Amino acid sequence: MNNIRIAKNFKLKEFQCPCCKRVMLDSKLLKLLVLLRIMLNRPVYITSGYRCNKENERIKGYKTSYHMLGMAADIKVKDISLIELADIAESFGFKGIGIYKKHLHLDIRPVPYRWVN
Ligand SMILES: [Zn+2]
Ligand SMILES: [Zn+2]
Repeated sequence: MNNIRIAKNFKLKEFQCPCCKRVMLDSKLLKLLVLLRIMLNRPVYITSGYRCNKENERIKGYKTSYHMLGMAADIKVKDISLIELADIAESFGFKGIGIYKKHLHLDIRPVPYRWVN
């Protein structure tokens, strides 16, 4: 299921909820991720895409997480620091940017907000 190529370097299943395999994906989020992937010219790993309410509760995500709207993705990219990656993502138009220990959270909320966890 969801084994559909939605862009040259992304499949829909990379964004699906780990518990129920359902998926929502905002086309603007995908567009920005594709541009980021092209610019970086190396694999962008999606560590978390869409989350249903249950999954978001299980991992203790924010109650209003953009992951539940298909408007957020957590990513990992080899050989680039998360801070550097955050700056690049910002320049591409990602609005919500959270730097975590092992991944970068990106979303397309309307008002820019950046945090370090
Ligand atoms: Zn689920
Ligand atoms: Zn996230």
